[in-house]
Amino acid sequence: MSKIMMTTPLVEMDGDEMARVLWQLIKDKLILPHVDLKTEYYDLGLLNRNETRDRVTIDSANAAIKHGVAVKCATITPNQQRMEEYPELTEMWKSPNATIRSILDGTVFRTPITIESVKPAVRTWEEPITIARHAYGDVYKAVELATVEPGECVMTFKGKSGAERTVSVQKVSGPAVWLGQHNSDSSIRSFARSCFQYAADTRQDLWFGAKDTISKTYDGRFKEIFEEEFETYRNLFRQLGIEYFYTLIDDAVARVIRSKGGYIWACKNYDGDVMSDMVSTAFGSLAMMTSVLVSPDGKYEFEAAHGTVTKHYYRYLKGEKTSTNPIATIFAWSGALGKRGELDCLPVLSDFAAKLESACFDTLRSGMMTADLAALTTPGYEVRAVDSWEFIEAVAARI
Ligand code: NAP
Ligand code: MG
Repeated sequence: MSKIMMTTPLVEMDGDEMARVLWQLIKDKLILPHVDLKTEYYDLGLLNRNETRDRVTIDSANAAIKHGVAVKCATITPNQQRMEEYPELTEMWKSPNATIRSILDGTVFRTPITIESVKPAVRTWEEPITIARHAYGDVYKAVELATVEPGECVMTFKGKSGAERTVSVQKVSGPAVWLGQHNSDSSIRSFARSCFQYAADTRQDLWFGAKDTISKTYDGRFKEIFEEEFETYRNLFRQLGIEYFYTLIDDAVARVIRSKGGYIWACKNYDGDVMSDMVSTAFGSLAMMTSVLVSPDGKYEFEAAHGTVTKHYYRYLKGEKTSTNPIATIFAWSGALGKRGELDCLPVLSDFAAKLESACFDTLRSGMMTADLAALTTPGYEVRAVDSWEFIEAVAARI
């Protein structure tokens, strides 16, 4: 049997710990037997990031811009504990995801992978809900102040031209706390474009909610920019039979709970932080959540939403065959291969990506799954909990 040929390489970003173990296994067992895999490989494992003074992360992001499609394995973001665990680290390197996101100026879309035997906590949800979180500014780049005496806080903008504008925030008669936050038109615009682009790509409605009735200028600006950017997409949306829908954030929350799912929900930074945890928990498990970073000009980086699964890795190092769920990582690969096939007009490659996903679903339907899913399955469905190796072998057999 001849292998499927590729024309453009995928940018492959390798990672750490258990995720790295699964990464190699997925490639060896599920992809390499069928695809003449062309990748431009970047080792984003912590030690190589350290070795290259994190240059490798920047290079990999630039490669993603050049080639248009990347697939990333979960990576360690070092903290104090990791600095002790890896004494060779010369710096507490920044989160690779944050670096890549800022170079691509992209938005992250997270979608649960749903199966019949794991029922969402919200009974009405039939289709996945994808959350798009604006990952810049607001309270995450705010300055804060606590004061004790009576007085007034003012906010002043000093223009480059020398012109100044000042508003009074509040006069207080006692101790108080203050917060100054911002966002930029260009970041909001990139966010809006990525959302419209991805909605068109995946043929799903786009919802956006903010609080522009109260925050007429700040949230009002988000609403305005989304409306402006929608003009470019209005015709395409009509052709595709999809909608852009704006509503107040509290109304959006109420509608989400009553909905059937099957749309993209664009959220401001804080809303996205909170709502993505709510939605992912209600759908089941982080191990079944995919994530794709989309730039405003249509570059894609696919990954699993979960981390490197450290606890399982240490058990693996002791010789245990862990039951770590590989599905989100397999779907990162299928997402990337499918997109590559689409961009390069290689339907065989996209078909293979779809078959890889079907093989996972069929395996799960047969009752064979990793322990995390077995624990979530509604009683009455057949379940056989297996380790990652056995699960991947079963998927391989089905392909
Ligand atoms: P995690 O790796 O997502 O794992 C947290 C727990 O969730 C695991 O201990 C496991 O629970 C469960 N879990 C996650 N993925 C699973 C899977 N595929 N199969 C089965 N169970 C799964 O998060 P973390 O432990 O907080 O972070 C570990 C490292 O990952 C950190 O160094 C962090 O910096 C990094 N991280 C990277 C990314 C990324 O690269 N995108 C994202 C998040 C975290 P049980 O132990 O109960 O089985
Ligand atoms: Mg959160």
